Amino acid sequence: MNVYDSARMAEILAPLGYRPVEGPETADLIILNTCHIREKAAEKVYSDLGRLQPLKSPAAAPLIAVAGCVAQAEGEEILRRAPYVDMVFGPQTYHRLPEMVARVTRGAGAVLDTEFPAEPKFDHLPGPAPGAGTAMAEERPITAFLTVQEGCDKFCTFCVVPYTRGPEYSRPMAAIEAEARALVARGAVEITLLGQNVNAYHGLDDAGVPRGLAVLIRRLARIDGLARLRYTTSHPRDLDETLIACHGEEAKLMPFLHLPVQSGSDRILAAMNRGHRADDYRRLAERLRAARPDLALSSDFIVGFPGETDADFEATLDLVRGVGFASAFSFKYSARPGTPAAALEDQVPDAVTNDRLQRLQAALRDQQDAFNRRLVGTTVPVLFERRGRHHGQIVGRTPYLQAVHAHAPEPWIGTVRKVRILAIGPNSLAGSPAAETDATPFPARERISA
Ligand code: SAH
Ligand code: SF4
Repeated sequence: MNVYDSARMAEILAPLGYRPVEGPETADLIILNTCHIREKAAEKVYSDLGRLQPLKSPAAAPLIAVAGCVAQAEGEEILRRAPYVDMVFGPQTYHRLPEMVARVTRGAGAVLDTEFPAEPKFDHLPGPAPGAGTAMAEERPITAFLTVQEGCDKFCTFCVVPYTRGPEYSRPMAAIEAEARALVARGAVEITLLGQNVNAYHGLDDAGVPRGLAVLIRRLARIDGLARLRYTTSHPRDLDETLIACHGEEAKLMPFLHLPVQSGSDRILAAMNRGHRADDYRRLAERLRAARPDLALSSDFIVGFPGETDADFEATLDLVRGVGFASAFSFKYSARPGTPAAALEDQVPDAVTNDRLQRLQAALRDQQDAFNRRLVGTTVPVLFERRGRHHGQIVGRTPYLQAVHAHAPEPWIGTVRKVRILAIGPNSLAGSPAAETDATPFPARERISA
């Protein structure tokens, strides 16, 4: 979502004459768009700021801004620790960038804007401009992001998002469709719908009636030239029957779903305030695969949540073994200031958390390898996105987001082509062009077991 927000910031600044440059040394304005989700990401902001400070000299003084969730959460603290920062603004006020820049260049002092305005920023952002969807205005966005929902009302006990991004908000369907059409007109072939809780989407349709994500997906799927739709990140609690059915019926919706579960222990899930049990998740996985047999799942996991015992962790491994994931992200629990879990007594020792993380990641890596291996010898549709490093080679992605390298004609970039998977490398698959009629099916029905 920060990639999307950064692109929108570039759009807002373009009429003032700003355009992207190669690096901070030649910039007139430097915006660090930050993440507060874990401590490591947040601390990095201060070390980056320290590296930027020397760029401020009497001869050349680029404006320095901190945007995003660290700005939202730490506001004043940033100006105190890095007094050379000119602007601090949160994720909901960046539409005011032109006024902020004007104020600072007038010499009116540093700007701090971490309000949650009553009017959503989307009402004030310029319409989809030539640079929409990419960080660099001149790029063709073959695959683009589009924010449809923002914020969160779920208050998982470990998470800062409800405090930094604010309450849940869904954009109206017509505005989203207009943005999607503009992206496709610029060459987008794939759009990923974004939201912190994207499947809690309930934007208004043209008659002013709130509608769910499945309705939005079906509406966007009608756009000619758009070949692929994805959405992320979804919450198990909001995955309703209509969305599951949509996976079975809407061919443009890719059979790959990022559905974070965090833990396989009911006790920990309750302490996290996730609002579902491990078996609910298992059942969702079954129902999704019943609707769309070649669907693969990815997930997020947190290890070392306060009070997590060996038995709780084993329950997580058990869920992993039972469900089978094509890929996953796993994190060490990070105590975040102001969240309920940070105040819990029973914090897990670092050594224990490290050990659990390693074991979980090994299990997930095995599943990912097994999943990739099963693709070898099959033919999959690949959306080609760019040239490869080697001459004559182009790179694209499968429906499961694996990178594929193939020797194929360059005009294939921006199109979906059938590719026969030949081998798996450490970070990507190797393939070769296959006949469009070639349909060696991907045997996804059987379980991935590791
Ligand atoms: N809305 C999504 C997740 C958004 S945050 C959901 O509910 O699933 C992205 C991921 O960061 C989470 O899924 C979680 O695994 C991780 N995360 C969030 N807060 C964290 C914390 N305090 N410590 C470690 N990982 C965290
Ligand atoms: Fe954070 Fe996701 Fe929970 Fe919302 S649902 S509080 S974004 S982890």
